[in-house]
Amino acid sequence: MPQKKCSFCGRSEKDVKLLITGLNGYICEDCAQQAYNIVMQTGALEQGKKEEAFKMKKVPKPKEIKEYLDEYIIGQDEAKRYLSVSVYNHYKRLQQPKDDDGVEIEKSNIIMVGSTGTGKTLLAKTIAKLLDVPFTIVDATVFTEAGYVGEDVESILSRLLQVADYDVAAAERGIVFIDEIDKIARKSDNPSITRDVSGEGVQQGLLKLLEGTMVNVPPKGGRKHPDQDYIHVDTKNILFICGGAFDGIERKIAQRLNTHVVGYNSVQNVAKIDKSDLMKYVLPQDLKSFGLIPEIIGRLPVLTYLNPLDRAALRKILVEPKNSIIKQYIKLFQMDGIELTFTEKALDYIVDKAVEYKLGARGLRSIVEAVMMDAMFDVPSRRIKHFDVTDEYVRKQLDKAHIQKAETN
Ligand code: ADP
Repeated sequence: MPQKKCSFCGRSEKDVKLLITGLNGYICEDCAQQAYNIVMQTGALEQGKKEEAFKMKKVPKPKEIKEYLDEYIIGQDEAKRYLSVSVYNHYKRLQQPKDDDGVEIEKSNIIMVGSTGTGKTLLAKTIAKLLDVPFTIVDATVFTEAGYVGEDVESILSRLLQVADYDVAAAERGIVFIDEIDKIARKSDNPSITRDVSGEGVQQGLLKLLEGTMVNVPPKGGRKHPDQDYIHVDTKNILFICGGAFDGIERKIAQRLNTHVVGYNSVQNVAKIDKSDLMKYVLPQDLKSFGLIPEIIGRLPVLTYLNPLDRAALRKILVEPKNSIIKQYIKLFQMDGIELTFTEKALDYIVDKAVEYKLGARGLRSIVEAVMMDAMFDVPSRRIKHFDVTDEYVRKQLDKAHIQKAETN
């Protein structure tokens, strides 16, 4: 029998790793790879993908988006409404027909202001899940030292491409959540000029990305290399959601409110201002006073805030969301055939500790984890059908666990 050979390069079966059999010939792994590259270069596949891109899933209405968010996130109604509307409009914009009436809907990137642990990331993540689009979270702090050891702003897009499995068209409709955007603020009060430049430099870098530009992204997130073929990603349709705690912004808001309330109506206005929660009065100019450059603020036209979580909110977070912490533990035990219950007092005690230790919503998880550790270790080997967590038990377990008070919140 004649030896099998690759019909393209002529190498015999023993000289190649793989020989794929066709009707009238064979192809080796190297030639197959080359053929694939040629197909990619011609863009034949890309065209198919682009068409697919416009057959997007039906986008839910703002009310439906909000209802979905309600299932997972407690409170934060204002932020939920803003997000629902902006996301809805964003997708309408993607689907706008290319007629020539001259009206072009502009992109509405979002900025959320609120203390850490109030649900900013959770909101962005939940929206992305609903829409089933590529979603990535990046931390703006990695860019602060750009030019020294930090990453390029473009690396945001490498991550988005990764989660989109290198489907460029999908990544171009994705959502990027930029956390800690406040950390790249210009340090206006800081006498050190070098820090200032670094913060502003990063903001400049972000500008183009937010607005919409063609970025050359090195494949597989690797370092830039002159010989590499870059992947071209257009950020025009990527929705950017930024979040930041903006610690101390209340002071800027208070200052502004005070300077504005001079004159005839001032006494009445001051009375109406809820001093315990100044965040809800946040305006773009406060972000500017905080140190964001006006151009960046202009490219984040939707500004909303999140409330600090009080005791009642923390109590709800523990049990109410669709995948609340307590529901997760109940499920874990259920998988071992054990019914797990918590007394009301036990739940109250857990919340008390989160408040006392200033751990916020994030702390709830570590507290419950500490409480349940022993039970999760022992119970699966015991022949019981039911495990009840009482406040007594919580107290005992937490005394053992030495949970530390958070230094900052
Ligand atoms: P942020 O981004 O504002 O710092 P996160 O969204 O990361 O905060 O919140 C941290 C965790 O706290 C979340 O994973 C979630 O479990 C919980 N959490 C915070 N806020 C809420 C909320 N409003 N509703 C439900 N869970 C919340």
